[in-house]
Order: sequence, then C-alpha cells, then structure tokens
Amino acid sequence: MLCSSCKNAQASLRLPYAPLSFCPACFKAFVERKVQRTVSKHGMVKGGDKIAIAVSGGKDSAVLLHILNKLYPSAEAVGIHLNLGIPKYSDECVKLASELFKLEGLSQVAIVDVKRCLGFSIGDLAQTRFRSKLCSPCGAVKRYALNRIAYEHGCVKLATGHNLDDTVATLWDLYVRGEVEQAVKLQPLTPSSHPKLVARIRPLIELTEFEVRMYALYEQLPILEAECPYAKNSKLLKRKSLISIVEKEYPDFKHTFLKSHVKRITPRLTLPEAKALSECEQCGMPTSSRVCSVCRLKAYAKT
Ligand code: SF4
Ligand code: ZN
Repeated sequence: MLCSSCKNAQASLRLPYAPLSFCPACFKAFVERKVQRTVSKHGMVKGGDKIAIAVSGGKDSAVLLHILNKLYPSAEAVGIHLNLGIPKYSDECVKLASELFKLEGLSQVAIVDVKRCLGFSIGDLAQTRFRSKLCSPCGAVKRYALNRIAYEHGCVKLATGHNLDDTVATLWDLYVRGEVEQAVKLQPLTPSSHPKLVARIRPLIELTEFEVRMYALYEQLPILEAECPYAKNSKLLKRKSLISIVEKEYPDFKHTFLKSHVKRITPRLTLPEAKALSECEQCGMPTSSRVCSVCRLKAYAKT
C-alpha cells in the first residue's frame, strides 16, 4: 500500500481511526503538524516564554521534548526530571532522561531527587499504608514537585507529555464519578490560578498513544520500555484497556470525547467560583487546605 501523503513510498503504518496510511517520513511530519496545530489552537507557546518540560524517561515525554525542541528552537526550555526513588526503575529513568537531554542539546536541566527535595521517595511510600494504591500519592508528588521546580526556575509554562489515551481515560473516570470541577480543569492549557502555580500545557493531548509510540520508534529516541513496578495497581491502565474495547466498535471515540469535552461541554458549564488558593503553612506552596497534600504525605512517610 502506498503512503496517503507522498503517494510515492510504501506505507509502513495505518491509523486505526482514519483512512490514512503513512511511510515513516510522512508519518513524522503528520505528527509534528498535529502537535503544532494543538499548540497554536490553544495558544500554548508565546514568544519569549520560558517553558519547563517534564521528562520521565518514557516515550511520551521524550516525544514532547523532541518535538517542542524541533518546532520552537527559540523558546527557552528547562528540562526537568524527577528521580522518584523507585528501586532499580528510577535509576534507569534517570539514565535515559539524561541521555535525552544531552541528545537534544538542552542547556538548562534539573534532575531532582525527590527524597532530597521532599524528605521521602515513592519507594518509601511503598512501605506505608499506600503500598496498594501508590499511583495516587505519586501523582500528587509529581504535580507538586514539577510545579515547584518550574516556579523556582522562573518558568511561565510547564509542559507535560499527557497523550490522548491518558486524557480520555482520566476524563472518563471523572465524568463517571461526577467530579465536574476536576474534569473542567483538565484542558489542553490550564491557566495559573495562583502566582506560585505555573500554567500547564499538554501539547500531545491530541496524539494517540499509538502515534506517540511509533514516532518515538521512528526517531529512535532513548526511552524506557519497562513499566514501573507499581503500575500493576494503576487504575489508569485499567481504564485505558476498557477504552480500547470501546474503540474497536467506535474507532474515533477518543478524539470525539476530547473534542466534546473541550469545545462543547466545558464552555457551557457554569461552576461556582472556586475558593482562592492559599499557601501551605509548612512549605508555602499553593493549596486549598491549611497544609498541602504533599506535606501531609511527608508525615505518613515518617510513620
Ligand atoms: Fe508513579 Fe504509578 Fe506511574 Fe509508578 S505507575 S511512576 S507509582 S504514577
Ligand atoms: Zn506543603
């Protein structure tokens, strides 16, 4: 089969949700155009922005850094990697993230040891009552630490590698549980609501996991294929496999779901005004309670 774009080379992949087949070169150009459209549609990158890019060692964040670096070479980028302290797994992640930073020629890089920064690691939390549901506190730690490091580096945006599959799986759960306020906040661009809270951008939000994986493969980016040893309890992975069943009957399900959320549902919702964020009594970072969730986790990690 010939490539749908150049009509010259042999196609090496077919998109499951559209009648399109691509050769590797046209596929990479297609993915980059898709990201560029998402970025410009949502005003994610403005001239002179200092952008923090979260790099985990996995495929999504590697593709994120590679494409942003390629499309916006004049943006000031700070690469951030968190060493979560997960036995063996985190050492591999640090190695691959460092290799990627070097390959991409990033001059500003922060590789931060979570234990040194917060006083406990995700490996430490695995020894507490959180052991069977680590992803939830781990997610809170990552959001907190990435924001704090981005803020301390003077960045105005924090880019993360969430793809379409991750986003739809999260939204699905929020809608099912009626957590409307949380769902509304999940947008391609979440603006800052506190001087110490850096705006979030998700440039890969319209790319499927398949597109990200194939792009990483064709570009030969250094990525960790192994899964986190705690992922077997991840609700996100369970939801993603459920969605893949729906997709077999409804191939465009994920794109339609996201489009409805961003364009049709959330603009029509009127939510009560959110309580202004205050600052945590212990660390000074933004929170809606007296003490932020990460400072509360610190206390559990010590017990
Ligand atoms: Fe953290 Fe869960 Fe991801 Fe492992 S799978 S890095 S515990 S969120
Ligand atoms: Zn705190």
